[in-house]
Amino acid sequence: MKKLVYWALAIYVLYGIGMAWYLLGVADISIPPQWKGTSADPATFLTPKELELSGEYSRWKDLLFFLSIPYEWLIYFGLLAFGVAQALRTWVKRAAKWVPIQSALYAFWLSLITTVLLLPIQFAVYHLSRTYGVSTQSLASWFRDRMTDFFIHTVLLVLTATVLYWLIRRFERRWWLYAWMLCVPFMIFFMFIQPVIIDPLYNEFYPLKDKKLETKILALASKANIPAEHVFEVNMSEKTNALNAYVTGIGSHARIVLWDTTLQRLNEDEVLFVMAHEMGHYVMKHIYWGLAGYIVLAFFGLWLVGKMIGWSLARWGRCIGIRRLSDIASFPLLLLLVSLLNFAVSPLVNTVSRYEEHAADRYAIELTGNKEAAISSFQKLTKAGLSEVNPPLVVKVFRYTHPTMLERIVFLKEYAPPLQEE
Ligand SMILES: [Zn+2]
Repeated sequence: MKKLVYWALAIYVLYGIGMAWYLLGVADISIPPQWKGTSADPATFLTPKELELSGEYSRWKDLLFFLSIPYEWLIYFGLLAFGVAQALRTWVKRAAKWVPIQSALYAFWLSLITTVLLLPIQFAVYHLSRTYGVSTQSLASWFRDRMTDFFIHTVLLVLTATVLYWLIRRFERRWWLYAWMLCVPFMIFFMFIQPVIIDPLYNEFYPLKDKKLETKILALASKANIPAEHVFEVNMSEKTNALNAYVTGIGSHARIVLWDTTLQRLNEDEVLFVMAHEMGHYVMKHIYWGLAGYIVLAFFGLWLVGKMIGWSLARWGRCIGIRRLSDIASFPLLLLLVSLLNFAVSPLVNTVSRYEEHAADRYAIELTGNKEAAISSFQKLTKAGLSEVNPPLVVKVFRYTHPTMLERIVFLKEYAPPLQEE
């Protein structure tokens, strides 16, 4: 089994070299000739220096992303193959009498180990974005955010392990179905509390500060029947130069959040376009569609994980000293399978998300009718985040929840309002 880890490691290194060669070398990110010199061409709105930096920054950021995913798989695989997962089980069995406490302890240590091992890659991402001047966050603040991540991740993992392994012990065959039935209300509850409990752990949220702008934004919101108490500003300028806005939460906690950087750096018409885009998400209930989608995916995902972990243990269980699924030492294997499936389904999830983002762009341009402001807002977004306008195909498939900036600007350029009926 240990030999397999070395093989996996060798494959990982080759994969890393291959990805670096693709992303840093051969990937085609040039602007198609028909858009050269237009407002969709970054050469027309970035300085030559910015253009160069945005290319470099994006390539390295993408490379880190593609390295980090299999790195996580390698961690779980290594823990199983080197017997760490099994040794930890033996230890928690001695440390606690009650089985649910053993599961909880196991999850806590697993969370700690994986967090520590993943920290170098996360630091590299932070360092990169500091180097290129996109992030403005201090190291202390960054570290505090990672501690918060760890806290939330651990609470979720402990809860999952305790409940899941209780279900597995009780229902040997149907545990995945009961797990899904429990995860549905939990997902709804989590989305409900996220904007009021989770997000404020990272940043400060408040009503819009610029009162003159607020009047205009709220006037636009009321046009779409969005009450004023659903619009928030978040202090991000201490952490980043990038611009953003988003929709979050469900029910009475549903809200539109505008980063303060967006409000500071865009002019009034551009802010209104960004706001109209978010209103599109709100009005078209994309959060609820997303929730429904995740509930469906979770059903098939849990079913498939149940099947796959059964096969894996039947095939390799003896060899790695984990004979039954109810053995908590199988938890890293379960997480490995979940992570693999997550990655496999990400192109589909991203495609749906890109479709929704496009619908929100259309909604926004229909509502505001101001093409010029819409295009310049996207140009400023690109500039502030040193984003890539036309990413390599693989990057788009696995990473892009939004259409590429090239696609978004071209859509706006070519947009013609529907003919008004008399
Ligand atoms: Zn959006």
